[in-house]
Amino acid sequence: MTSRLDTATLKNLDRAHHLHPFTDFQDYAHQGGRIISRAEHVYIFDSDGNKIQDGMSGLWCCNLGYSQDSIKEAVAAQLNELPFYNNFFKCSNQPAVELASALCRISPAGFNHVFFTNSGSEANDTQIKLVHRYFDLLGKPDKKLIISRKNAYHGSTIAAGSLGGMSAMHKQTMGLTYIHHINQPHWFELGGDMDEQAFGIKAAQELAEKIDELGEDKVAAFIAEPIQGAGGVIVPPESYWPEVKRILEERDILFISDEVICGFGRTGEWFGCETYGTQPDLITFAKAVTNGYMPLGGSLVGDKVADVLLSGGGEFAHGLTYSGHPASCAAGLATLAIYENTDILPVTWEKVVPHFHRKLEALSDHSVVGQVRAKGLVAAVELVKDKSSRERLAPESGGAVFCRDQAIGDGLMVRQTGDAMIMSPPFVTTLEEIDTLVEKLVIALDKTAAHYSVS
Ligand SMILES: *Cc1c(COP(=O)(O)O)cnc(C)c1O
Repeated sequence: MTSRLDTATLKNLDRAHHLHPFTDFQDYAHQGGRIISRAEHVYIFDSDGNKIQDGMSGLWCCNLGYSQDSIKEAVAAQLNELPFYNNFFKCSNQPAVELASALCRISPAGFNHVFFTNSGSEANDTQIKLVHRYFDLLGKPDKKLIISRKNAYHGSTIAAGSLGGMSAMHKQTMGLTYIHHINQPHWFELGGDMDEQAFGIKAAQELAEKIDELGEDKVAAFIAEPIQGAGGVIVPPESYWPEVKRILEERDILFISDEVICGFGRTGEWFGCETYGTQPDLITFAKAVTNGYMPLGGSLVGDKVADVLLSGGGEFAHGLTYSGHPASCAAGLATLAIYENTDILPVTWEKVVPHFHRKLEALSDHSVVGQVRAKGLVAAVELVKDKSSRERLAPESGGAVFCRDQAIGDGLMVRQTGDAMIMSPPFVTTLEEIDTLVEKLVIALDKTAAHYSVS
């Protein structure tokens, strides 16, 4: 490593030269940010000497925390053996071969093929190309349209950003015109006086209506996250997914489950589609597949699609220099080995999750909390000024932004989306550390209530 720069130098160089993702450049150039210098277990340390408990698993990816030596060692060993070779031109490498096989072993029945990318965004771009290729090979070239949902997050390349339903992104770049959006199953935001389960059915039926409107002969696929993550941890009503499944079964369109957050154990099963009982044709993965230590994503292709792709001749005109990068795949293999050979998943599901949910439920009584949503180890706390009318806390000044800043200042890293505080703690968080997480969140909620005079 290069010699350590002092904090002031780092911050100044950062402000001067480094453009950050999803950041107000003008603001950052003035204010600067926080330099994260090291991490251990579930804690991150900044260059000012602060120790912060990570309630977000990095960015939904370091599910096993920061101290998994076997992953670090696997990457180092792979760099020594074969630091890079591409998978174009009929070449392959052992980590890519082994990881492809291992992913098929742990994925739902009927998934036996993988296409590797470096990120979730690229994986979703790949899904579109796979879906288009599939229908072309079937002699249905008119089936090109993709249905997605408002406030979904599928990444930020042009195609993935178009799939996503984030209005801020659509405002800045023209979206792809073959992608259409339906409403999200966000009962607290959109449900009004409706019963939650009735609302779930209604939200699902928008899919059927949209397919009818566009024409089943034109629609290729529906893409969705089992639980919308970046959109604010929108845990759908229990009625939603069974109704979507029913609608999909009656129609000739493919279903892409974007498991970039829900995959690898986050919701209580290996994949979110298993938690909700849906049957995707394609699965998008990224983030936690390497525990966030190396960039890697990809598409898991179910047999229905793979059979057509493999029997149709001609090249699939798509690929990335680093598709199946040996060091990233080595990280993925070492990560899966921890999942499969330790008791982390059963302990997470049987002990950590119920404890986390019990602690969070107690927050429902707090004066600024309108709704607590949780599934597995992902949760949102929706902030309100008035519980019964669901009036927002301070939409203009951003009440949740205030709350988040209080939490971070007090040593808890959580995120905010809209009016929701969102959390996705590492699975290796101990029960005591879950207590600390919720205690720090309560302190931030108390300060928020006081700041906005809510009692
Ligand atoms: C993060 C995310 C992506 C995009 O992944 P990147 O690696 O950031 O490109 C796609 N889908 C979902 C559900 C995500 O949370």
